[in-house]
Amino acid sequence: MTSFVPQSLLNLHLSGLEEYTPIQPFEVLSRRLGIPASQIVKLDANENPYGPLPAVAEALAEYPYYHIYPDPQQSELREALSGFVGVPAEHILPGQGADELLDYICRLFLSPGDAIINTPPTFGMYSFDAKLQGGQVIDVWRREDYSVDVAGIEKILGIGYSARVTDAPISNPQSPIPKILFLTSPNNPSGTWLGDEDLRRLLALPLVVVLDEAYVEFANQPSRADWVLAHDNLIVLRTFSKAAGIAGLRLGYGIFPAWLMPYLWKFKQPYNVNVAASVAGLASLRHTDQIIAVVEKLKSERDRLYAALSAIPYLRPHPSEANFVLCRVEGRDAGELKQALERQGILVRYYNKPGLDNCIRISVGRPEQTDRLLEALGSLAS
Ligand SMILES: *Cc1c(COP(=O)(O)O)cnc(C)c1O
Repeated sequence: MTSFVPQSLLNLHLSGLEEYTPIQPFEVLSRRLGIPASQIVKLDANENPYGPLPAVAEALAEYPYYHIYPDPQQSELREALSGFVGVPAEHILPGQGADELLDYICRLFLSPGDAIINTPPTFGMYSFDAKLQGGQVIDVWRREDYSVDVAGIEKILGIGYSARVTDAPISNPQSPIPKILFLTSPNNPSGTWLGDEDLRRLLALPLVVVLDEAYVEFANQPSRADWVLAHDNLIVLRTFSKAAGIAGLRLGYGIFPAWLMPYLWKFKQPYNVNVAASVAGLASLRHTDQIIAVVEKLKSERDRLYAALSAIPYLRPHPSEANFVLCRVEGRDAGELKQALERQGILVRYYNKPGLDNCIRISVGRPEQTDRLLEALGSLAS
């Protein structure tokens, strides 16, 4: 007896989704390489090598109410975030990582036939979440120096688009309606800053502009979170995953225009942010001086890493405002280089796709991790 397999009842637009390639868990990798996890130099996911502040571990250990559901409004966390970001709490919504908020935004605005404007090479979640909603992706490629092609985006809104439309299997593929523009500053994986003037021009377009500031703490430039107060089409996303070192706890937040907040409140899962993430976030925000100190350490380490990489003949590092450095590999195969480093217990991110041909991205680690990386890169120069 076979039972009815209701595959034909699936949402049609989901069947065309690309499979997500998950990263290998740290422990699995350690077993495969035969290297203890503590010896692995993990520079492949832009995590903070210093981890959470000591106060976070203490607050988590002492918190007595894990058996109680979280506050759906996250009032205390939002107040603390308001003090940190300098924007009233009424504009702030925490999420299970910035990733959850990206998903909310796509679900709030996109129906099949709608489109996002993406500026590759960039973070992969924007197109992933758009496609989950049956949305299409209009790619406006960054220039050679990874700056955003502002005129190219304006052209799409003005005279109809001629850019490459990827994965457009669904209704009305000829004229998708661009609704959301995703921007990342500093950009991942290039570390590129988007200047004020470019952002202002893009905010003049009839689009929802999502500015992903996951790495803004590492930039020598200020956040644009408070621009949301003056621009009803701007959303700024931030996270505790990178600067605050709690990627595993999943905590991010968005700064949204006032008109959008009621929709988010109606829409969101009541208990999206778990109690541990919230406790950790609050403890971090009580010690922002310590977060800033860690960020400063990482920024000077980035500068040392960049200078050292520049001196390696087969690498062409790109200047970065984030906690990672993108390098073009010259005269040898970047994939093989990644493998050779991995055999020594050093993990970096490898790319070989348009705009990122033969590239690796190296996250900024502790000084001793940089030393091990540089030693390995030196020994591989031949
Ligand atoms: C890491 C990263 C995020 C994800 O943040 P979470 O809060 O961990 O979900 C968002 N955007 C970019 C560009 C990132 O690199």
